[in-house]
Amino acid sequence: MKERAADVHDISERLLTILNGTDSAAADAGEPAIIVADDLAPSETVQLDKDQVLSFVTVHGSLNSHTAILARTMAIPALIGTPLPLDETVDGRLGIVDGSAGVIYVDPDEATLAAMREKQQAEKQKKELLQTLKGKENITLDGQKVMLYANIGNIKDLATVLQNDAGGIGLFRSEFIYLESDHYPTEEEQFRIYKQVAETMGNKRVIIRTLDIGADKKCDYFGMEPEENPALGYRAIRICLTRPEVFKTQLRALFRASAFGKIAIMYPMITGIQEVRQIRQIAEEVRKELTEQGIAIGDPEQGIMIETPAAVMVSDMLAKEVDFFSIGTNDLTQYTLAIDRQNTKLDAFYDAHHPAILRMISMVVENAHKAGIWAGICGELGADQTLTREFLAMGVDELSVSPGSILPIRKIVLETDVGAYKAGK
Ligand code: PEP
Ligand code: MG
Repeated sequence: MKERAADVHDISERLLTILNGTDSAAADAGEPAIIVADDLAPSETVQLDKDQVLSFVTVHGSLNSHTAILARTMAIPALIGTPLPLDETVDGRLGIVDGSAGVIYVDPDEATLAAMREKQQAEKQKKELLQTLKGKENITLDGQKVMLYANIGNIKDLATVLQNDAGGIGLFRSEFIYLESDHYPTEEEQFRIYKQVAETMGNKRVIIRTLDIGADKKCDYFGMEPEENPALGYRAIRICLTRPEVFKTQLRALFRASAFGKIAIMYPMITGIQEVRQIRQIAEEVRKELTEQGIAIGDPEQGIMIETPAAVMVSDMLAKEVDFFSIGTNDLTQYTLAIDRQNTKLDAFYDAHHPAILRMISMVVENAHKAGIWAGICGELGADQTLTREFLAMGVDELSVSPGSILPIRKIVLETDVGAYKAGK
């Protein structure tokens, strides 16, 4: 009955948007357009047609929200939390979004138009120059190697992953499959998607993160109750461990797809060793069931996200239980600094360079290496080019970033002498 209620709710929402004439404004423009909105939910953003959206500008929202992260993944310039009077008079007029300066111009004058065209051209040339780095190994001047992987939210992102020469996929946010759907995705539906990603990437590693729903990623048909503090609430692995039927469906699809490529499974929002043991047990049951049914499976690596301070503090113990670590700096920063990543007013306080965060990363990498496993970063900080040298000095093994950031980071890696950097610190 609960699930049916969600369906009725969904239909009523859709009916209202259609009756209000506000449905799919982007598609109605008839040509690629800039979308200006009060706010965009991650579920709406992931459904935008990348070829029809030049940019989007929202009045609300925060820089660390999944809407902003998706824009980076899709390489769409976006302005979030823009103090713009929202009126319909901007509809159909010429606009320019300068993502690097954080400015939108409506009906720009000739001089602005010319200056922006020049900037666009310079940006294009910079990108073309980076193309010469394709096919090169990510190795520093003194021989230290690092894996440069891509973050994706959707199989539509695979084209940009290949164009940017990613060494693998370091974070496939599988929850977007659930957000794009109006029902629990079946084992078969998920299997087809994971298999396609695995086959497209060939022998390159594809790390698929299990369902990380909750907080800003809301899914009606999960029938979740409103919470006082959703970021600290019933989300991610907590849902999976209390709803094993949902978790097992996804695990079955992942194990089956792992027979077709180099899939690795990653679990989010881990706080301690008990959770990991419980997860491994459920995964083992799934593996056994599939084998008994005579269904082909691979032997996927299983790793965890380190995105809670608790996981950092026990990372020495966790490292003995898993195959790899991936540090989720977005949540790690929010939980360490006690700053809600969704709150625009706190963007100025959200200091991902805080020494507490950098020390935590270093500690996690050290503990991983002591146990003989690798550690990467898949939070947005991994793409921060001012820290690339620092991450190399810490011995970070992998950086998973939005596809457009791979070649610029490769350039820094190729020009870095880690030994000299450490000596000069
Ligand atoms: C993170 O928390 O850093 C992360 C990569 O996961 P998400 O941004 O999806 O919460
Ligand atoms: Mg996270």
